Amino acid sequence: MDGQTPIDQLEELTALAANWAVEQERRVLCEGVPLSERELADAKIIGVRHPERVRLLRVEAVPIPAHPLLTAAAASIHFLTAAPRGLALEYGIFVRSDHWRDRALIAHELVHTAQFQRLGGILPFLQTYIFQCATVGYPNAPLELEAVATAARVCSD
Ligand SMILES: [Zn+2]
Repeated sequence: MDGQTPIDQLEELTALAANWAVEQERRVLCEGVPLSERELADAKIIGVRHPERVRLLRVEAVPIPAHPLLTAAAASIHFLTAAPRGLALEYGIFVRSDHWRDRALIAHELVHTAQFQRLGGILPFLQTYIFQCATVGYPNAPLELEAVATAARVCSD
């Protein structure tokens, strides 16, 4: 008998995603490069704390979780779009090579970095983000809408 409720499944999923995110952040912090002067200035306007700790890692494709449960869930709730251009995991930001140093994309990801900080780290961010994607959908998730709006404002200056 399967006694799991959807909420239990969401919690299990979030825990798996958080483990994966911590590993990926560690990789970016080891292999990535610091923000440029302009990116640092944007990060300060966005409200990122300790922007000097942020690292960008240029990749051919943003990594996707290998765990089958996460892969299926990511596809079903669009936690990760089919071919994301970037992905922020608190201080570690993956940037797809064709968008390397793309100001608008990096500003968007830096808003997510600020959200990780505001919400208290990787696990609380993912709890909120996954819940929002599962309920209102990825494009309408408030954390996503905030990133879109703030990045547009920062880049219009
Ligand atoms: Zn986003």
